[in-house]
Amino acid sequence: MRATASPQDIANVCAKIQSLGFRPHVMPGAERTAIGITGNHGPVPPAEFEDLPGVAEAIPVSKPYKLVSREVKPDNTVVDVAGCAVGGAELALCAGPCSVETREQILVSARAVKAAGAQLLRGGAYKPRTSPYAFQGLGEEGLRYLAEARAETGLGIVTEAIDVETFDLVEKYTDCIQIGARNMQNFSLLRRAGRSRKPVLLKRGMSNTLDEFLMAAEYILSEGNYQVILCERGVRTFADHTRNTLDLSVVPAVQRLSHLPIIVDPSHGTGKRDKVHPMALAAVAAGASGLIVEVHPNPDRALSDGYQSLYPSQFEVLADDCRAISDLLRKRKASADLLGRVILPVAGI
Ligand code: PEP
Ligand code: MN
Repeated sequence: MRATASPQDIANVCAKIQSLGFRPHVMPGAERTAIGITGNHGPVPPAEFEDLPGVAEAIPVSKPYKLVSREVKPDNTVVDVAGCAVGGAELALCAGPCSVETREQILVSARAVKAAGAQLLRGGAYKPRTSPYAFQGLGEEGLRYLAEARAETGLGIVTEAIDVETFDLVEKYTDCIQIGARNMQNFSLLRRAGRSRKPVLLKRGMSNTLDEFLMAAEYILSEGNYQVILCERGVRTFADHTRNTLDLSVVPAVQRLSHLPIIVDPSHGTGKRDKVHPMALAAVAAGASGLIVEVHPNPDRALSDGYQSLYPSQFEVLADDCRAISDLLRKRKASADLLGRVILPVAGI
């Protein structure tokens, strides 16, 4: 739609889409609103819409994913998680332990990551573990502790929903629903997340291509939830010096194809504490809109992912360094814009 399109113009286009038997998806952007169409089983002639008031252009989408594509919505999507604008100008930092273990542990973690400048707190209450005998999370008790940490610190909460059975409970407590790597192609879970009105953090599966990743996000958007943050967390390769290989080239690749923001998880992406800081810096330099980092007050005694969890003091340095890189890139982009030079044409900064 044109920037000048009125709410009535948008409603008229939606009515026209519905009259053809299709579903409209209204996605407001900073400048203009995009309206996606799904439910069609063949091309829809652009001429059906081009002459309606407020319509700027009607674009047939060439990609298999529709609503996540930049063709449908050229403007970057900014996802608001409890006041933190993921994909906005400022770097989004989400940090906390892999799992919520005790009330004390999550409160101490929350205070530490807040003091370091994180806007969001992570911590799993339901954990997808390789072994059925490993710690599976505290369940609702963990969600209650997260809510208490939010009330005390003001941090927004990001926590994982691992199945449809416990989805409602997670949705009730959290500010952002994480869908983990192992569930990236759990299509019933994706559809359920698509019916939620809370933002979703979708992690890339450990052996999924970019197309599969974007198609998974499409499941969520196709159900009407457009608040999706993508997350690169490393993929499986032959490399054995790290737990996973952090595929940072997916950041500009996503930004080229999709309007959704992408953040990076250097903790699961490397699996080793000493690799987290350098890869976090690299992720920000590559244009990531944010980071999700595992931080534990006592990593050596963590019930999950201790070897990749940072000490709070290490996170403080990481947060400072990453903000410095992000600020530098933002300033350089602003001066390039002033000079009319085009750098980083689609990066989310
Ligand atoms: C996690 O964030 O703790 C987690 C299990 O991540 P992933 O799904 O990326 O393995
Ligand atoms: Mn973890």
